[in-house]
Amino acid sequence: MIKFLDLKQINAAHKMELMNAFEEVIDSGWYIMGDKLNLFEKEFAEYCGTKHAIGVANGLDALILIIRAYKELGIFKDGDEILVPSNTYIASILAISANNLVPVLVEPDIDTYDIDPELIEKKITDRTVAILPVHLYGQLCDMEKILIIAKKNNIKVIEDCAQAHGAADNSGRRAGNFGDAAGFSFYPGKNLGAIGDAGAITTNDDELAVALRALLNYGSHVKYQNLYKGINSRLDELQAALLSVKLGHLDIETEFRRKVANRYLNEINNNKLILPQVKDQSTHVWHLFVIRTADRKTLQDYLLKHDIQTVIHYPIPPHKQPAYAELVDEKHPISETIHREVLSLPISPVMKNEEISKVIEIINAY
Ligand SMILES: *Cc1c(COP(=O)(O)O)cnc(C)c1O
Repeated sequence: MIKFLDLKQINAAHKMELMNAFEEVIDSGWYIMGDKLNLFEKEFAEYCGTKHAIGVANGLDALILIIRAYKELGIFKDGDEILVPSNTYIASILAISANNLVPVLVEPDIDTYDIDPELIEKKITDRTVAILPVHLYGQLCDMEKILIIAKKNNIKVIEDCAQAHGAADNSGRRAGNFGDAAGFSFYPGKNLGAIGDAGAITTNDDELAVALRALLNYGSHVKYQNLYKGINSRLDELQAALLSVKLGHLDIETEFRRKVANRYLNEINNNKLILPQVKDQSTHVWHLFVIRTADRKTLQDYLLKHDIQTVIHYPIPPHKQPAYAELVDEKHPISETIHREVLSLPISPVMKNEEISKVIEIINAY
């Protein structure tokens, strides 16, 4: 069976290093808010090119905390609107509603699956306070256009980088360093994955960083003094140490993902399928390799019969989820097409050449 994503193999490649880091943390006797977290934050900020990286418990918390911090700083308030792509993973939208702000769905570009900048301005009202672009599947959004729109309308840009660690524009500027703040997830299956839950926020805004550091730690800047009604969303020493190890291998792993993607792009030749479109190699880190086909179920069953596992990202659009009953009457036909037709092929830094060849061969015979 060619697994969709073999996490055991991915981490086995770094097992000795991970075990050493694990042991160091156990032996240190210090498990929360210590040197390992400080080091990982420093390394990750450097990697993204930002002034600050702030470890948090997971990717959803990263986004929730950014919006919450803007509320505490008096920049957002209840009922304000944030523009978000209608085909994103639901976490991007949950972060908005968790703060009593209103998610306003914007359709994606059918070629890149990222939020369509041409559709953003029509959705801006006098309540709009931010755009939340999601670099979906690992491909950078059109940040140049998005930043111009945000500046013109004096609103914030909050990037959802959960799928796009290291994606860069042609000047080398990386995901997480375009907007006012960005949320990252290190969920085990992400391109930079922990051995459990973890996340981070990047920003160049000092004031925001100070508020965020308090909010994630009970609302406290100084022990036993609480400025905000905060939460506990700390990134622990163990995950931070393991992430430092994984970060050291990220660029090589991304290059391998690109190699797999390029083979798929060059060698898959089947007119029943639509392959992903790439603007520029550096802009895509291939978290997922997503194809589209009108008869998805038949293709998925056929691949499974040939021992190839695939996954659908995502089967149900957010506005059709019971949790968002208030959005059920909205029409997002591009999203609905995407949700009906997408299928993700296996892609990872540990795929063997024979496995890549087999996927290509079986798909071409479909
Ligand atoms: C994974 C993901 C998140 C949430 O991250 P968690 O660490 O699972 O909370 C948010 N947005 C997108 C686009 C994601 O893919």
